[in-house]
Amino acid sequence: MLKYNYHTHMKYCNHAKGDVIDYVKEAHSLGYIELGMSDHAPIPLNSMTKEEWEHNYCSENMTLEIFEKYLDEIEDAQEKFKDMKVFKGLESEYLEDHNIWYQNLRNKLDYMILGLHFFKDPDTGKVLDTYQDMNNKTIYKYYQNMENAIKSGLFDYIAHPDLFLFKYNGNDVSIFDKDCEIVTRKICELSLKYDIPLEMNVNGIRFATDMNDINKWRYPNIKFWNIASEYKNLKVVIGLDAHDVSLFHSENIEKVMNLAKSLGINITKFEVKK
Ligand SMILES: [Zn+2]
Ligand SMILES: [Zn+2]
Repeated sequence: MLKYNYHTHMKYCNHAKGDVIDYVKEAHSLGYIELGMSDHAPIPLNSMTKEEWEHNYCSENMTLEIFEKYLDEIEDAQEKFKDMKVFKGLESEYLEDHNIWYQNLRNKLDYMILGLHFFKDPDTGKVLDTYQDMNNKTIYKYYQNMENAIKSGLFDYIAHPDLFLFKYNGNDVSIFDKDCEIVTRKICELSLKYDIPLEMNVNGIRFATDMNDINKWRYPNIKFWNIASEYKNLKVVIGLDAHDVSLFHSENIEKVMNLAKSLGINITKFEVKK
């Protein structure tokens, strides 16, 4: 049974349910020792066109004003539940040229998760959508953005690194070619080089066409993790990516644990360094 989680969303992102205290109470009742709050980070203003902003649901993310309120609520929960560690975190995209924005967020946190749902194409300046726009050219740009983000030193944990396979070259989740393998290996090597853990994401299973067939999962992607399992020193963590307290009870937690076990991947606990 999992006793810690660092990937937790709340109502502040406008697509998850519940307050900080709801998640803290639920985790506490299950005997959790640590819980990290990581709602979607505020996005730098004027970082993209209005159309791109809307396409990527950026107006759902919390504003800087709500961010301060979010931190206050985490502090209240820390006061109320002293026998469990509650951490201040965020899950953030990484748009280059906005390091000061992210640094200002990071300064107020215990840790920050990198979650690349979209990123800028360095050649065209257009924002690419990790769910929809991936092909054998753009996945290298996805990787490059990830590398630049990690090099910035702002991030502590990479959420769903396999998200680039969500709809790679269309809807058929079985497609995994040489380019996918190269990008997978680059991500594993990046993780090792900078000692930043990679996450197996529990919430991703719900996007599968058949949740009981591991080969149909978009993420965690079995082919990605099969290659990752070759890297014996890789730090792999499990993240609930909870958008509802019911996820603490989901049978998908065990399914992800079993996938890791079947591939010989050791799940490690994420250590908040602050
Ligand atoms: Zn979300
Ligand atoms: Zn998330």
